[in-house]
Amino acid sequence: TWAAFAMADQMIGSPAKLAEYLGNIDAASREPGAREDAALLAFAREREPSLQKISAADARYWQEQYRRARFSFDSQSVRPYFPYAQVERGVIATAATLFHVDIKPVAAVRTWHPSVTTYDVFDGQVRLGRIYLDMHPRAGKDKWFSTQPLAYGIHGRQLPEGVLVCNFAGGTPGDPGLMQYGDVVVFLHEFGHLMHHLIGSQNAFVGEGGFLVEGDFIEAPSQMLEEFFHDYGVLTSFARHYQTGEVLPRDLFTRMTRADAYGRASGQQRQLMYTAVSLDFHTLPPATLDFDAVYRRDFERFNTNAFVPGDHFWASFTHLNGYSSNYYTYVLDKVIALDFFAQFDARNLLGGPAGMRYRQAVLAPGSTRPAAELARDFLGREPNLDAYRRWMLAEFDAEAKSSSAAR
Ligand SMILES: [Zn+2]
Repeated sequence: TWAAFAMADQMIGSPAKLAEYLGNIDAASREPGAREDAALLAFAREREPSLQKISAADARYWQEQYRRARFSFDSQSVRPYFPYAQVERGVIATAATLFHVDIKPVAAVRTWHPSVTTYDVFDGQVRLGRIYLDMHPRAGKDKWFSTQPLAYGIHGRQLPEGVLVCNFAGGTPGDPGLMQYGDVVVFLHEFGHLMHHLIGSQNAFVGEGGFLVEGDFIEAPSQMLEEFFHDYGVLTSFARHYQTGEVLPRDLFTRMTRADAYGRASGQQRQLMYTAVSLDFHTLPPATLDFDAVYRRDFERFNTNAFVPGDHFWASFTHLNGYSSNYYTYVLDKVIALDFFAQFDARNLLGGPAGMRYRQAVLAPGSTRPAAELARDFLGREPNLDAYRRWMLAEFDAEAKSSSAAR
């Protein structure tokens, strides 16, 4: 099948190994996912007693209501603490400390647009490469968020360059660019890609860069950096009110973190649905493949919400183009990213030895060796689901803690 071909040179290796892996992810997320869905349905029925099932079309609406009611968290309330310029300085400083590099602005570089800023990345006195930040929307620009390698490095001959192409708030005079907290996470995610490219593209051959590692490992370093958002110490190094300078209050941070932790397991079940669609479309015999029927079946397997008649989601599932059968990359790399993150000292995330160890074991080798080896080198063992399970169940821990504190 196409799937077997597309996985042969990837970390996962084969559809059979993937099936086993996905079975473990399903076993870990199904029960807590059902618990989340049941709580959401009970919440919705308090407001609409006649409701039998939540329609898939209304699920996000109810989740938002639930977050507001249960955690008294309104995502708008943290935006004043995340003005763009401050976040940019904070993300750069966080990455620089974590990966033991200096990231210095370079003035008067001619780029493709005056709003683009340029930085050089140094390891001590040694220049590692150059990065460009093209961070705000403008007419004719790509609307998404991505990291693009501009040049790959060759040790001793050529330095790598990379660019973030993003569409964050701000960028016009007088606009502080107050960011959604999810946007700050996206910024960290993309910066994780950028550091992987810069630090990983210092090898003997141009084809050995960090971005050229197996495709199903590429989302691990980016998702790993996302996790630093959930640390109060890291966050408050830059999350200050844009008018008063007040540091993000602890209480607001706690509510944001709890609201964010809600829905992880059911979210993983949805990811398994996308994964199944991507896999089935590239595994089943093409001549008889009924897209609607296969999608409906995968929907029912991983959803407790009611299917919306006429839902042809697969027709706008753009990942099918880039990832084909390999959408599983996201769940696989989420597990690895959380396992990586768990190796850092939670009380001293940026200061401990794990940052340098990670840089040397995972980022610097680029694609000179199989990604599975890099992961093993850093972890000292095979990746496992322990950190992933803890991450998924964190919401229930917090619930138990707060209800026992209330008693
Ligand atoms: Zn990514």
